[in-house]
Amino acid sequence: MERPQSPCPSPDLGEAIRHAQYRMLAAHMPHMYLACIFSGLLLAYIFSSVAPPLVVYGPMTILLVLSSVRLAYWWSPKHPKTDSPANIDRIIYGTPFYAAFYYALISVWTFGMSAYGDESHEMLAAFYVAICTFCGISFNANLPRCVYAILIAGSGPLVVSLFATGHRLADVFAAMYIANIVIQVVAVRRTHNDFVSAVRLRLAAEVSQFDSEAARRDIARVANTDALTGLPNRRALLEALANQIDGAAPGKTFAFALIDLDGFKPINDVYGHTAGDDVIVTVANRLKEAIGPHGVVARLGGDEFGLILHEANEHDRVLQLTKDIVGTIDQPIQLDQGIARISACCGIAIFPKAATASTELLQRADEALYAAKHAGRGVTVPYNEDLESKQTRRLLIDTRLRDAISQSALTLAYQPIRQLRTGKITSYEALARWNDSLLGHVSPAEFILVAEQTGLISALADNLFERALVEAATWPHDVSLSFNLSPLQLHTPNFALRTLATLAAHRFPPGRLLLEVTETALLTDINAAALVIDQLRNAGIRIALDDFGVGYAGFAYLEKLTFDKLKIDRSFVSGMKDDKRKRQIVKAIVEMCHSLDIKCIAEGIEHESDADLLKSMGCDSGQGYLLGRPGPALTKPGNPLEARAAG
Ligand code: C2E
Ligand code: MG
Ligand code: MG
Repeated sequence: MERPQSPCPSPDLGEAIRHAQYRMLAAHMPHMYLACIFSGLLLAYIFSSVAPPLVVYGPMTILLVLSSVRLAYWWSPKHPKTDSPANIDRIIYGTPFYAAFYYALISVWTFGMSAYGDESHEMLAAFYVAICTFCGISFNANLPRCVYAILIAGSGPLVVSLFATGHRLADVFAAMYIANIVIQVVAVRRTHNDFVSAVRLRLAAEVSQFDSEAARRDIARVANTDALTGLPNRRALLEALANQIDGAAPGKTFAFALIDLDGFKPINDVYGHTAGDDVIVTVANRLKEAIGPHGVVARLGGDEFGLILHEANEHDRVLQLTKDIVGTIDQPIQLDQGIARISACCGIAIFPKAATASTELLQRADEALYAAKHAGRGVTVPYNEDLESKQTRRLLIDTRLRDAISQSALTLAYQPIRQLRTGKITSYEALARWNDSLLGHVSPAEFILVAEQTGLISALADNLFERALVEAATWPHDVSLSFNLSPLQLHTPNFALRTLATLAAHRFPPGRLLLEVTETALLTDINAAALVIDQLRNAGIRIALDDFGVGYAGFAYLEKLTFDKLKIDRSFVSGMKDDKRKRQIVKAIVEMCHSLDIKCIAEGIEHESDADLLKSMGCDSGQGYLLGRPGPALTKPGNPLEARAAG
């Protein structure tokens, strides 16, 4: 996902100057040699009629060969971009020596020929040397050492020979020449200083640009990386997903999966955040190693990860591959406090079958994950038509439920909770009922979940709670109202205050209210939940831990929070008579309740044998079809336990 980075420009000014000089040479040298070759050929032509061929063509051939070789070198397509720094240094350091030799050769050649001509020939030769010298100076202006070499090798002999002729014209020419040379040298010095300053500025600009690019890259990396695991984060995964969709060839498929750890929260709550971090990092490393080059794994936040599996041509294969990857999580994790074991649920959406847009794909994977979570621990669910119809039903429930709430179409059934010893009703649990004209009877387990997902839960719960209070106010004073709290409710702002205000408005004593919370309500933030529970208990409201035993860390919550009652989940009670292990578990829970001074309520008592067993174990209270089905409160005053005792 990362772009290759350009190397940091070297901060060495000398090196930068040599590179710039090299670029100048590469740009100007061909012109200089062309000018020298052209003028040299003309000069040779003029002298060919007066000087011997060896004197004219001997040095000229050497000059021509040298010029052509250099011309070919500088014109080569290799220059200047691909030349190595070492080669550049060699050229820059070598050029003054080469220039000295070249201009010395020009001097030797021209003065050799001058001996054969008249005054005009001499002046032409001097003029040729002067042109070549000025040409060399201006084209090498940024290489002062080269300029000096040219002056010494080219101009020195020229000036000496001009003065040596004794002609006035030659003397004047020599004087003008010297004056110009002096001006040229001064100009060269200034040009070179400006050149060095320009290189310095450009170098500083390049370094600062590199620094700001590096800073930009750092910011982009941080923005796209999860700080704890070093994996790409949600933003990077969504970008990768969009790229994967854009680049998907026709007929090619890939899988997008969401992974959520099972029971991670209790590890965090019980062992602390450092242990929680260790678990997340271990899981991240395992996923990364398992997916290898076949895809991308990212941490989306908390205990949720996302995967893109590049190759998914076969549905069954991708399912198996994803299961294998997720399966790597399910290995023991060594923590300072001991060994932890954790599993994960996974929802998969396969492109393009499940969806073709990234947001939809994410949503489908999320729905599949949701279904997986509901199916149990360590479950992987691919998105399919079945889930699609469930989603359609959820949407329908949502729409109908909004109307039902606004029209107060939901009702409440009350199921008695009785003392097992006496059969006396101590409280009624209010259970929501909804019979929709289109959907028929919808189970509260189903519509409460939808209400939680769509944010309807507060309106729904407030409505039901007020109606339950009105109803419970008509009951005998020693009968309490047991009311279920949705996990989200406990975390709504000022929940305890609002509940107390509602109780006060209905003049309902807090002591007659029992609020039932499930483990899921405590999972989100145990400290926040503990605070609310304390506030409620301090006001006299009693709290029951509902469905105990089916969650991940019931015992951990008992250690951290104070409950008044504990309801043993129906799954342990039903069939207890024929299942020794269940009996042992229930007995252990009852005994634990006694030692923690918590009242124990057994749920789902359907048979007399269950009631007898529970009584013999010392369980305080019970609830179940045997003791009374959910229905209107107190309409059936008959007490099945008492009736049985009497019978
Ligand atoms: P829960 O709080 O554990 O409620 C007990 C559930 O067990 C009720 O199902 C009840 O009808 C059922 N039940 C009671 N005795 C027996 C029995 O002997 N055998 C069997 N098989 N079942 C029995 P229901 O009414 O379908 O409620 C399901 C869940 O929905 C409740 O579980 C509770 O978590 C939730 N719920 C119901 N009403 C409300 C509500 O008003 N607010 C909230 N937040 N949740 C509610
Ligand atoms: Mg309950
Ligand atoms: Mg329950």
